[in-house]
Amino acid sequence: MECENLKGLTTDEVKELQKRYGLNEFVKNEKPNPIKKFLGVFKEPMFLLLVGAALLYFILGEPREAGILLIFVVFVATITFVQEWKTEKTMNALKELTSPHVTVLRDGKKEVIKSFELVPGDIVFISEGERIPADCIVIETSNFSVDESVLTGESEHVFKYAAKAEDESKGDYWRTDMLYAGTLSVFGTCTAKVSATGFSTEYGKISKAISETKEELTPLQKKTQHLVKILAIAGLVLCIMVIALTYVYNHDIIQSILSGITLAMAIIPEEFPVVLTVFLSLGAFRLAKNNTLMRKVSAVETLGAATVLGVDKTGTITKNLMEVRKIFEAGKLSDSKSFSSEKLAELMIMSCEKDPYDPMEKAIVDCTSGVIADRHKIYNLDIAHKIAFDSKTKRMANIYTLENGYYVAAKGSPETILPLCKLREAEFNRVQAVIDNLASRGLRVLAFAEDYSDGLYENLEEYSLSFKGLVGLQDPPKEGVEEAIELCRKAGIRVVMITGDYSKTAMAIGNEIGLQFKDLVITGEDIDNMSEEELKAAVKHCDIFSRVIPEHKMKIVKALKANGEIVAMTGDGVNDAPALKNADIGIAMGKRGTEVAKEAAHMILMDDNFTTIVRSVKDGRRIFDNIRKAMVYIMVIHIPIMALALFSPLFNLPQILLPVHIVLLELIIDPTCSIVFEGEEAEPYIMDQPPRSPNEPLLTKVMAVKVILQGLVMFAAAFVPFHYLVDSGISVEIARSFSLMTLIVSNVVLVLVNRSNTQYLYKVFKEPTNKARLYINSLALVMIFAIVYIPGLQSIFKTAAMEPAMLLVSLLLGVIATGWWEVVKLFSAKTEIEEAVVKLEDKYDTN
Ligand code: ADP
Ligand code: MG
Repeated sequence: MECENLKGLTTDEVKELQKRYGLNEFVKNEKPNPIKKFLGVFKEPMFLLLVGAALLYFILGEPREAGILLIFVVFVATITFVQEWKTEKTMNALKELTSPHVTVLRDGKKEVIKSFELVPGDIVFISEGERIPADCIVIETSNFSVDESVLTGESEHVFKYAAKAEDESKGDYWRTDMLYAGTLSVFGTCTAKVSATGFSTEYGKISKAISETKEELTPLQKKTQHLVKILAIAGLVLCIMVIALTYVYNHDIIQSILSGITLAMAIIPEEFPVVLTVFLSLGAFRLAKNNTLMRKVSAVETLGAATVLGVDKTGTITKNLMEVRKIFEAGKLSDSKSFSSEKLAELMIMSCEKDPYDPMEKAIVDCTSGVIADRHKIYNLDIAHKIAFDSKTKRMANIYTLENGYYVAAKGSPETILPLCKLREAEFNRVQAVIDNLASRGLRVLAFAEDYSDGLYENLEEYSLSFKGLVGLQDPPKEGVEEAIELCRKAGIRVVMITGDYSKTAMAIGNEIGLQFKDLVITGEDIDNMSEEELKAAVKHCDIFSRVIPEHKMKIVKALKANGEIVAMTGDGVNDAPALKNADIGIAMGKRGTEVAKEAAHMILMDDNFTTIVRSVKDGRRIFDNIRKAMVYIMVIHIPIMALALFSPLFNLPQILLPVHIVLLELIIDPTCSIVFEGEEAEPYIMDQPPRSPNEPLLTKVMAVKVILQGLVMFAAAFVPFHYLVDSGISVEIARSFSLMTLIVSNVVLVLVNRSNTQYLYKVFKEPTNKARLYINSLALVMIFAIVYIPGLQSIFKTAAMEPAMLLVSLLLGVIATGWWEVVKLFSAKTEIEEAVVKLEDKYDTN
């Protein structure tokens, strides 16, 4: 073979070539520029307002106040910048993990590298379902065809061959001895030498015009953008009102603009988009640690809403560790341990690949080892023709050259092998009974047949095969699958099993793992005979699909989606790609999956394990739940701040909150909503409730009521005492200290109260604490005591020390202002869960 004396490039050569030709990329990725990014932070409205306020202080002749505000500007900007930088790095790391790989020959060894590291001269090995990474010259192929439609527009697959001297296709522009970057290998294998990379490839020349594709906004991000816009407009209107009103009261234009700016700073909802990007990207990062790579961030959101998981049986639900259990030969069914027929053992070996990789073939060959000790004699025979396995025909055969003709060794699913054998009816019935018996025990049944023939034919149908025996293989479910399916049932998620196996086998496995509708099977043939409407109705009550080919998956996905389900679907092959793309969440297998399936998927399952999907769904729900909690928190805390900024001018009181106080509060609120709530654990009932409807608004009515109640009480606790103290002649500084103390203490308690909808406050001290929560809350308390009691800070923050008694009252008020919600939990916790369970039961009834 030619490829055995290929050496490939050496590491040094690769370095040299990489310098000369650059990376094998098709889009120009701009290198992130930290300075540009840092400056970008200052374009945010929040910073413009702060700078505006500082300017006004300068005009007012208070340069010290101005300076302090500017110091804060840098401080807040730095925090924002660091957070954005980290998010971007996380996203880039994820992108790299999901970038395509290719097998190359370097330093004489086969290794897998990232496709963008390829250089001209590299020897690459392409197999089925890969995107061709660069332009290459074919060295050797085996039954290799590609889909070049991206370049040529021709949908017909093109077979590729190594160049021959007399090749007449040489004149064509698209040559059959070349592979082109961006096209798709659909069948067979190929060894080739890279001739051009990146923008020098045919594909690169076209794609040069296309700039980097921006990550699309997720539905959640779009919804929030809308919300932010509304809030911003409302804020602007209020600001103008306040400026006008303050001017009417005191005829001081600068003072009135200052209170307008303060209000604007209090209203700007700049935390919302930050929360989303941080939660979704950090969420994707956490999922990656749990063997789930997100290719689209939006999938993090959708994951928690999934209502149906469509899962491949072999390798995802089962271990794909096959073992031969039963053998049927010459009318007798026996245990594989007592297998002794040399004739059948030979046929079994001969019908498999040489030194097979496929777990099932491995099992078949392994089980013959007691009968045939040395397989060399068989492996030395010449193979004249191979009829490859494909999921449509569900059979394969090797045809060997004998001295006086040919020997056909065939195996496949009984339905496709038996009709080719001339069995008498009685015998056929007997065999069929054995098949059903084996299958109903959950065994996969394969039929074996042979033929001695004078001629060599293309198709198996042309031989006159004789039936030789059956083999029953066991492939047990993976550990934890049964429990995971039970978890799904409680969580209102249906699990649908899809397999190329025989119905009875699939049903037996379905029973073993506890699928919901386990007594009904729809076969690929049934699907072909159903109309769209019929299939739509049928998928409501069926969890097992058997003898299915990838094309059917697409129909199943469509039918489920037409019923309003949110469908997650797994796949690994080239033909699975359309179904993966069409599913709400396409899941490609990390180990078994082809590059094409991975490209089409939203998510890659690194360990090919069903239980990981379920864990990821739980994570998806937790992430979404925490986003909501963070959003609720942001809205609650902004009510008192905004109302304080709005009401002191309205009541003609001195300003309670000055711009410095607002930035100080931002310093606490920002990390609280983005870091603290991100790290909160899942609610204990998170998998005991039905999936959230994707149409559900981000903020439900119940949540809106909570926001308003909590926010208003916080406002009252900070505002009423201030009003009272100022009226009773106490200095503004002391009254302000009281208000600030109450506000910040109530904020600290709010974070603890809102971390869970059902868990009580006292539990905080028992659970493994969220460290960020501890640090940020402590920092908030230290800060407020410092500005109230440290003389140097008092003059900056316009505060004054309170008497111990007054301090105590303000502390107590702060705790009560948000702690009272615990009483609501006492009543709501149970009803909420009960409601969810009722909803779930309703769903099953109506189904
Ligand atoms: P699954 O969806 O469970 O992975 P497959 O598509 O791999 O199913 O296989 C479907 C059927 O094709 C099997 O039940 C078996 O009868 C047959 N089959 C699978 N692999 C081979 C093979 N290597 N040789 C012959 N028949 C096979
Ligand atoms: Mg399979």
